[in-house]
Amino acid sequence: MKDSETKKSIKQDAARIAALLTDSDYPICITGAGVSTDSGIPDFRSPETGLWNQEEAKELSKPGAFRISELTLDEKMELFWRVGYKLGKKIMKAKPNKAHKILADWEKDGIMKSIITQNVDRLHQKAGSQNVIEIHGNAFEAKCMFCGGSYRLKDVMRRYKRKKRAPWCDVCAGFIRPNVVMFGESTPSETIQEALVEIKQADLALVLGSSLIVYPANYLPVIVRKRGGKLVIINDQSTDLDKVSEVVVNASITRVMKEINKALN
Ligand SMILES: [Zn+2]
Repeated sequence: MKDSETKKSIKQDAARIAALLTDSDYPICITGAGVSTDSGIPDFRSPETGLWNQEEAKELSKPGAFRISELTLDEKMELFWRVGYKLGKKIMKAKPNKAHKILADWEKDGIMKSIITQNVDRLHQKAGSQNVIEIHGNAFEAKCMFCGGSYRLKDVMRRYKRKKRAPWCDVCAGFIRPNVVMFGESTPSETIQEALVEIKQADLALVLGSSLIVYPANYLPVIVRKRGGKLVIINDQSTDLDKVSEVVVNASITRVMKEINKALN
């Protein structure tokens, strides 16, 4: 497609999405890694930039990496911190992009009720969104894997930087890890319940930057559909739910969001 045609088709799709948002009584948004790539945070699963495809991190990307592996827990934690430290720094420094900002404005204006996100980067909150449910936790808190004691990840990262050893708990000497849901781990049931409260009210779900591969994010839009709600998907690649969605746009998220915002004003 020529660029002028692409531009025209994005404009048309954006106008349709704006109309759906205006007609909806309870629109919600489900976001994934694609929303944060314009803020410089790599999509962990993308084959080109995916952190988890680097050789040394492969061990940790296996489902249940913390439980099933040939490595001892000590070795796993050292590996985890070696890889995770760099990513942690990147996430902490990242700034929200235009898509995060538009979503925050929509919440203030009553256009968007809530966000359910797979992202652990807190960029929605940094942009000003308040009603955010983090189904994979967030990378700003840390916890002891043994006693559950909580820490600020920032402080724990400082310790790692000083000693170059996986940090351990002051109370029980257990390993400390970020409070995020890793591959093969489950979202806490309280968080699922919070998400369901939103999902059950939603008559429209705008799915942004998620390939809808990982549970539970891939199931939430299915529930919206089953209950009679509508779906809109904006992502850089196709998803399994494209065929049951009202509008599907495969283009840059910030670009499409800007167009929808223009169409709404
Ligand atoms: Zn502890």
